[in-house]
Amino acid sequence: MDLKHIEYLSPDAWNQWHTELLQSTLNRAYDRVSFYRKNMDDAGITPEDINSASDMAKLPFTFRRDLSDNYPYGLFSVPLRDIVRIHTLRSGQINPIALGHTRTDLKNRQQLTARFLSSCGVEQEDIVQICLDPGMALHGLDMREGAELIGALVIPPDPVSPDTRVKVMVDFKSTVLITTPSHGLFLMNKIREMEIPLASINLKRVIFLGEAISQQERERFQKELGTSTRIAYGIFEAAGPAMAGECHCHCGLHMAIDQIFPEIVDPETGAPLAEGQTGELVITTLRARANPLIRFRTGDITTLTKETCDCGRTTWRIAPISGQTDQVVLIRGVRISPEQIDNILEQAAGTAVEFLMVTKDWNHLRQMEVMVGITDALFSGCLPELHQWIRRVEELILNQLGIPCRISPVQPSSIRPFIQAGRRIISWEEWTRR
Ligand SMILES: [Zn+2]
Repeated sequence: MDLKHIEYLSPDAWNQWHTELLQSTLNRAYDRVSFYRKNMDDAGITPEDINSASDMAKLPFTFRRDLSDNYPYGLFSVPLRDIVRIHTLRSGQINPIALGHTRTDLKNRQQLTARFLSSCGVEQEDIVQICLDPGMALHGLDMREGAELIGALVIPPDPVSPDTRVKVMVDFKSTVLITTPSHGLFLMNKIREMEIPLASINLKRVIFLGEAISQQERERFQKELGTSTRIAYGIFEAAGPAMAGECHCHCGLHMAIDQIFPEIVDPETGAPLAEGQTGELVITTLRARANPLIRFRTGDITTLTKETCDCGRTTWRIAPISGQTDQVVLIRGVRISPEQIDNILEQAAGTAVEFLMVTKDWNHLRQMEVMVGITDALFSGCLPELHQWIRRVEELILNQLGIPCRISPVQPSSIRPFIQAGRRIISWEEWTRR
């Protein structure tokens, strides 16, 4: 079926589509992936018990941790010879996450991204500039391949300075910019700083990934750059950055429900929530061959509506992500959890370390500083040694999580009140107010 037409199926046709594809996904996962078989056996159900989408709630969840625990091949449902690409993601655990793709998986992913970009008005004549941090390299690659399928000219996220990115944007007359909201705002300020006239900017569309953006900030792009904006949402673990995306109506993000079956659950109890209620997005892949995911907890908070959009598409829509469930912070599109920082600090110190993550926005770029409680185990009295250790931790964080981060030694007593109150991530304002 034409991938564009599929966005307009009737509710009955969607129902049939989901029932058939969920059954085939569950059968494959049960037969070929021992992790899923065990999960289902433990829950006392078999794929035959799932006769419709409403039965999905009977199935156990899959968590991010399960992906790294089953590294390297544990979740593959095809033989290695059928896998043509493996992406590895940082998990913050000892094992990374390994995601396999068959030739069909790659084709589906590329077509899905191209479908979203087409819906944003991207055409063969466009010059698509992608400006993403290294932590979002995989989303950058997906966007590049999607734009290339359309036949657009692509400028991938090369490691050049922000000034050079702006210069390239002007000199090559980029018409589409794909970036995170924070980096987009940063570039917009650069354009103003460099006193580049609006007439030299040819952008017709800015596509945002990875972070939330306010209406006010979106309007700034319209006003200052004369460009409209769209939001896309996706997770690295499935379908890529175009798993959901806005149409021209700007009333929610159309989920690619031909490839993904979404549910909204109560983040605390895991109970399914009714349409329109706010909760955690849970997804099941419908067409992934190498790495099917069953009821995967994304950790992202949103709502879901099944109403037909004014644009005519019948694909269900989610609201822009309003936050994350557990204590996770998004730094330039990369999820960072206290558990990840804890592992890195322990790795560097050889012992458990008290710390507090403090986030601050500088020039629209979200930064993270880690306040580390300095004890005798870390500081023997030799300052150069302590500085060397701090630099090492900063390098480990950059290498393992893909974001720059500052480590600041502090008195343990200054961070303990927060830790004792169950807080691991606070804002800079809270930190300075203490
Ligand atoms: Zn629409």
